[in-house]
Order: sequence, then C-alpha cells, then structure tokens
Amino acid sequence: MAYIEFRDVVKRFGDNTVLDHISFGIQQGDLVTLLGPSGCGKSTLLRCLSGLETVTEGQIVLDGRDVTNVPASKRNIGMVFQQYSLFPNMTVEQNVAFGLKMKKVDPATIERKVAEAIAMVELSGKEKAYPSSLSGGQQQRAALARSIVTEPAVLLLDEPLSAIDAKLRKALQSRIREIHQELGLTTIFVTHDQDEAMVMSDVIQLFHSGRIEQAGSPVEVYTSPVSEFAASFIGSYNQLSASDFTALTGVPVPQGNVIAIRPETIGISRERPDEKDAHLVDGTVVDSTPRGNVLRYTVRLEGGTTVFVDVLFRSFHMFDRGNKVYLSLPERDCLVIPVNAASARTAA
Ligand code: ADP
Ligand code: MG
Repeated sequence: MAYIEFRDVVKRFGDNTVLDHISFGIQQGDLVTLLGPSGCGKSTLLRCLSGLETVTEGQIVLDGRDVTNVPASKRNIGMVFQQYSLFPNMTVEQNVAFGLKMKKVDPATIERKVAEAIAMVELSGKEKAYPSSLSGGQQQRAALARSIVTEPAVLLLDEPLSAIDAKLRKALQSRIREIHQELGLTTIFVTHDQDEAMVMSDVIQLFHSGRIEQAGSPVEVYTSPVSEFAASFIGSYNQLSASDFTALTGVPVPQGNVIAIRPETIGISRERPDEKDAHLVDGTVVDSTPRGNVLRYTVRLEGGTTVFVDVLFRSFHMFDRGNKVYLSLPERDCLVIPVNAASARTAA
C-alpha cells in the first residue's frame, strides 16, 4: 500500500465538480508534483489532504490510517503556500518556533531545532528580522523552515515559488529538493510550470480539469505523452493533424489521432540529407528565436503548417528568414497521440 492514497476522491462546490474521481498513491519519501493549468483542482486536492477542505466523496489514507474525516490539526502535515503566510508581528525565529511552542516542546529543544531549521533554509543571520524586511525568497524560506521544524509526516508546497523571480527560483528549487532528500520527507509540490515539475519531481501527476491525465517520471511524461493535452502541456511538442501529416509524408494516421514531434528531434539542413528511418519534408524558415542555449526556428511547411525546430545555439550553421530547408522527422519520434486520454486508456 502506498504511503498516501487518494481513493476515488470527488470534490464539488455546488454544481462545480472540481475533483472528478481522483485515485493515485504516493510512495513514502517521494517528491510528487501536481502539475496542471490554473483552476484544474491542484490546490483543492492539497487542501483536502491537509484537512482544510472536506471531500464530497471518496477516501484519503495516510500511512495506513483513513484520515478522510480527521481534523487538520491531527494529520501532522506541514504546508507552505504561494502567498507569504508568515506572522508579520513575529521575527523569523518566532515564526519558526511557533509550531513547537504550540506543541509545548521544552525551550532548549525549541532553540536547537529552530536554529537547525533556519540553517537548513540558509537564513542564518536573519533570526531577528521581521518578515517585512525580508525579500520574497527569504520569506518563503522562512515559511519552509516553519513547516519542516515540526517534522511533519508530509510536506505540502502549493506553488511556493511562483511569486519569485527566475534566478532565485532555480536556487530555491534545488534547495527544496536537497532538503527533501536530507529529511526523506514525503513531499507534494504544486506547480503550473512544466520546467519546474521536470527538475523537482520523482513523479509527476499531470492534472487536467479535475482529473489525472497522466502520471509518471519526468522522463516518461516528457517522452511519452498520452494525449494531445499532455503533449501540449509538456515538452512543447509540435502537433500535426492526421491529414497534414499524411499530405506531407504519405503515411496514413489512424482516426482520432494527431502526430506529436518534439522540436529537438527534428533535423534541419540546407542540403537534402541522406537519412534513413526519417520522413523528409521541405520548408521555409520564417523566424528564429534564441531560448537560452537553444535556437528555435519556425519553419513553414508545404500546405502552410508551421513547426518549431530546436537546435543547439552555436555561432555557426544558422539559417536566415526565407531560407529553404529540409527537415527530417525521425520515424520513431513521430508519436501517434490520441486526441483525448480517455481513448488512449481504452486503446491500451
Ligand atoms: P488550481 O490550484 O489548480 O489552480 P483550485 O483547486 O484552486 O485550482 O480551484 C479549482 C476550481 O475550484 C476553480 O474553478 C475554483 O474556482 C474552484 N474553487 C476552489 N475553491 C473553492 C471554494 N472554496 N468555493 C468555490 N469554488 C472553489
Ligand atoms: Mg492553486
């Protein structure tokens, strides 16, 4: 049995079904990400697990115990939210100590544990600071220290980094992952950012309108999307309609499917390449944009469809707007994807 189990969980607000029969398990010590667009039910599921919200139907089991109707204070779950939720009239130290004081832990132990937690989030030196004098990133680290100091069974992080700027965010992603490993703490991390989910997770649960669209390791979800939605949300796949793909390559595609191809799997060249096991199509470069260490070309194909092609951003071998190019689409990278996941599940 998994450490945390959601069994057929349904949550309705009036007529609005926000969680639509959610079932999955989380192994002890894993860092699991709930990934999905805004409004798909991620926070609601966390709130149901923490006890801040009740479920309409179904069961939640934590470490073999049915906690569906157990009050929040008895679930031993730590939570960090997107918005900074520190007590403004308390210093960092007092904020972090709060949970231990409530549990009537002795003062010497509180002092030691608070110092350890503050060191762990790299806030030593800021013990006496008030939240208003801290940056957003520092406030979130203090909130993290406050959550881990009580040694919860489960740590829930609800988009804790989404209000933090890109560079600091990367550093905090690694720090959270390290703390998770050091403490072996079962952690659920919510995000709407696929890159963040990729770097953080042992397992990704991809949400779509209150349902789980796909679950798997970052690599599995990235390389084998089960639906058009999954392919559009992760990996920025090019998607070609069945008719376009057939017109371009002569290869028939079964009905109800699209062809998804990752931009980095496509070869681009000026000369006609002599490639085996690849579909060769020609096109015209219409745009190129640098994206970090990758250069992304937009190429218009015959018939008007455009695809993205990513190549490593070197200073040579670049194509200009208007250049005629050959694209090679490796056969094994042209994934046949059902338009919706329900038909994928039936087909499997
Ligand atoms: P996410 O965290 O994925 O962005 P939420 O779980 O916050 O999504 O919300 C999912 C849906 O549930 C939204 O349509 C939201 O309006 C609705 N919802 C969330 N909380 C409440 C509530 N307390 N009352 C009514 N509707 C709610
Ligand atoms: Mg949310």
